[in-house]
Amino acid sequence: MSVSSDHRRSVVLRRRPHGAPAVHDFEVIEGPIPEPGPGEVVTHTLWLSIDPYMRGRLSEAKSYAKPVEIGEPMTGETVGRVIASHDPHLKPGDIVIGARGWQTHIVSPAAALTKLPVGEAPLSTYLGVLGMPGVTAYSGMTDIGQPKAGETVVISAASGAVGSVAGQLAERAGARVVGIAGGPEKCLFAQEVLCFDDCVDHRCADLPAALRAACPNGIDVYFENVGGAVQRAVFPLLNDFGRMIMCGMVSEYNDTQPQPGPNLMSVVRKRLRIQGLIVGDKPERFAEWRALATPWVRDGTLHYREDIVDGLESAPEALVGLLSGRNFGKLVVRVTPETT
Ligand code: NDP
Repeated sequence: MSVSSDHRRSVVLRRRPHGAPAVHDFEVIEGPIPEPGPGEVVTHTLWLSIDPYMRGRLSEAKSYAKPVEIGEPMTGETVGRVIASHDPHLKPGDIVIGARGWQTHIVSPAAALTKLPVGEAPLSTYLGVLGMPGVTAYSGMTDIGQPKAGETVVISAASGAVGSVAGQLAERAGARVVGIAGGPEKCLFAQEVLCFDDCVDHRCADLPAALRAACPNGIDVYFENVGGAVQRAVFPLLNDFGRMIMCGMVSEYNDTQPQPGPNLMSVVRKRLRIQGLIVGDKPERFAEWRALATPWVRDGTLHYREDIVDGLESAPEALVGLLSGRNFGKLVVRVTPETT
């Protein structure tokens, strides 16, 4: 189908994937740009966030959020520019976050949108380091991890959107931070740019031995982003009174059969605290984190890396790649160049 810029383009779910999703599970459709109803706003999408949770929305399995229906636009957080408004609080030209969907133009209730300051930080960062992934890292470390000076903190998916912030927060608390990432380039980034004390490549020949060598005093805090073989290597190294932040297990999201889990008897014996985390449970954290972290982004002391792909049509391929580790940093789609 040919596409044009005076129409709305949407990426819709064509069929539910079994195992890893493929680009053909999605379809680009085109239609007229919608009009806003009373209290509604139309945004032109500038940036679209691609996140691991999207794999869950492709499945009908029971979860904390409802699935995307076949034929519906994929869900996803965006930063957009208001182009039409039937609400007194927002006017054309305002930049907002909160419109959801893999779409070039989105109709939303104005109440669902938050106006963003322009010029304080790059707009894409409100989907990454200053947005949902940053808040996730902050909540996990504040509420569960509580790292202390001298403790060893291990972060999986260390170069990613959540892991990179989680590790830097642990560093700020004076902990020894060890990342786990896929490949030498990501490990180098974790050590040289994020300043983690060490980083282990989970694709190495003997991950349990490499992790043991990197954590001679055991592990006090583990920020779990990955699950699977990485979790199995971390678990035996947890110290007494260790804390495990159960944030996500992305390596298992494409599985069609559940993996055999770790022996959770250690949780009892070592008095471990393992606690789940859903970032939306504490919405007040978003404003709190932005106020704390915006100065760090501006003065360059909170490092972040973005993996930018261009064009809404690239979104399916981007999600497929993220679920197999191809992204390097917070994955965002530049749907429309900000200068247009
Ligand atoms: P990332 O930017 O870290 O991207 C995903 C990364 O996961 C990949 O780059 C890859 O890094 C790693 N990965 C993917 N597949 C595998 C695999 N098979 N084995 C090992 N590693 C793999 O994503 P985010 O930072 O956005 O998300 C990280 C985690 O946080 C996810 O589990 C996500 O679901 C969770 N999350 C949870 C939230 C909550 O509220 N609980 C909110 C936000 C995120 P590498 O190559 O280094 O392995």
